[in-house]
Amino acid sequence: MINGDFGFWAHQNPSIRATPLAASGTADVVIVGGGYSGLWTALALHTFDPSLDIVVLEAEQFGFGASGRNGGWLSSKPVGMRQVLSGSSSREQVLDVEDRLHDTMQAIADGFTADGVDIGAAHGGWIQVARNASELTRLRASLAGHRAWGLDESRVRLVDATELRANIDIHDAVGALMSPDCIRVDPFRLLAGIVARARAAGIRLHDHSRVTDITPGVVQVGALEVRAPRIVLATEGYSSALKGRKREMLPLNSAMIATRRLTEAEWDRIGWASAAGISGSAHTYFYGQRTPDGRIVLGGRGKPYRFASGFDERGAVDDRTIAALEAIVSDLFPWLDAHAEYAWCGVLGVTRDWSPFVDWDHSTGILELGGYAGQGVTAAKLAADAGAALMLGRNDSITRIPWVRPKPRKWEPEPLRWIGANGLYRAYSAADWVEQRSSTGRTSAIAKAADIIAGR
Ligand SMILES: Cc1cc2nc3c(=O)[nH]c(=O)nc-3n(C[C@H](O)[C@H](O)[C@H](O)COP(=O)(O)OP(=O)(O)OC[C@H]3O[C@@H](n4cnc5c(N)ncnc54)[C@H](O)[C@@H]3O)c2cc1C
Repeated sequence: MINGDFGFWAHQNPSIRATPLAASGTADVVIVGGGYSGLWTALALHTFDPSLDIVVLEAEQFGFGASGRNGGWLSSKPVGMRQVLSGSSSREQVLDVEDRLHDTMQAIADGFTADGVDIGAAHGGWIQVARNASELTRLRASLAGHRAWGLDESRVRLVDATELRANIDIHDAVGALMSPDCIRVDPFRLLAGIVARARAAGIRLHDHSRVTDITPGVVQVGALEVRAPRIVLATEGYSSALKGRKREMLPLNSAMIATRRLTEAEWDRIGWASAAGISGSAHTYFYGQRTPDGRIVLGGRGKPYRFASGFDERGAVDDRTIAALEAIVSDLFPWLDAHAEYAWCGVLGVTRDWSPFVDWDHSTGILELGGYAGQGVTAAKLAADAGAALMLGRNDSITRIPWVRPKPRKWEPEPLRWIGANGLYRAYSAADWVEQRSSTGRTSAIAKAADIIAGR
């Protein structure tokens, strides 16, 4: 089994080559971070003003971050908590951002198809499965929430176990929410496609160029510096490593495995003919996809958080987490040999209120964006489009989406952050255990208490 080395997708694709920054210089815009957020911002800026000289600085290789390691759900699930975002915006604005996500999801896939670039896209929607009475009750509540926000049957609906089985045969499933709002992609190929566009646009791309300090007008890369009136900070889950930013975004860890390629007979038995993304409804959530080359890729939390906002070692996963993810696959499809051929993990950025931000400070010339809480494959493009429009002072309606707001309040200092994140994960695991053994259909009191503490 290949563990780490930043993941299955990177092993399936040629690496993305660039060159390190070799000399100090100037630019119109410097972008820190070469994931979806940074690269889409670069492209949006270029589209608005092709004369801009734009530099992107990536600390490692392009694809090193979450953008090269994720589950490949290009989805238009609501990103950010509606009640948080509607706190400072109207209901219409919250719905507007969700419509924009939907259009962005489709536009990303259609754009690459039109260019003849294969990003492994297949439109299968998503299926969120309930496997006990409590989970089904939560799905009903979630459906009611979607309806209250105006999503009709065409966007999300509840199906019973029989209808679910016609789509995918998951052991012990009692029902599911189904939605067409997800396109399966190979996330690394998507990133490589964006890099190729950026290159073609003349955007200067540098890898192995770790930014060590940012002050208005100057980005430091060790002994070198790039001076620019406008700077973009697009380091999402890695932002905590930058000076003064330890508590802005929690680097939440998510671990994944990829099984061997299944045979056609095995796929027939599972019945997972579409490219639907599947996820669970337990508090310790799982998510997965059927890959373009016929494997099951499945992810979950594993070790959720490392002390002092620390990171993994090039995506290596501990044995216990691998075994736990294999056990989920076995539990879903008990007859299947669920051994992992690849395991990896990565970090995603979570703000204190679990909602994204696009924060443009005109006085410093610094744009910060991120906090997609595990749903950035589509969201990063929308945030980037908004950020680029703000930077260039455009009066487009996208600059008024609810994500355009100052960064939310900081996370608690250590050891509270560590105790909180890991303690909550234990509490959610305990709640799942209780619910699995109960037929009341109620959500465990442990999980309700954990939700209040987590601020969700
Ligand atoms: C395992 C996993 C599964 C996920 N699954 C999904 C999914 O299925 N669907 C979905 O929508 N979202 C998913 N996400 C979340 C999604 O991948 C992220 O929200 C998204 O990729 C964030 O993009 P980004 O560009 O903001 O950050 P990143 O992709 O993390 O990019 C940040 C980049 O900044 C670089 N960097 C950091 N520090 C510096 C520095 N000092 N100088 C220069 N560069 C620096 C990093 O190396 C990195 O490449 C998942 C995330 C993970 C970890």
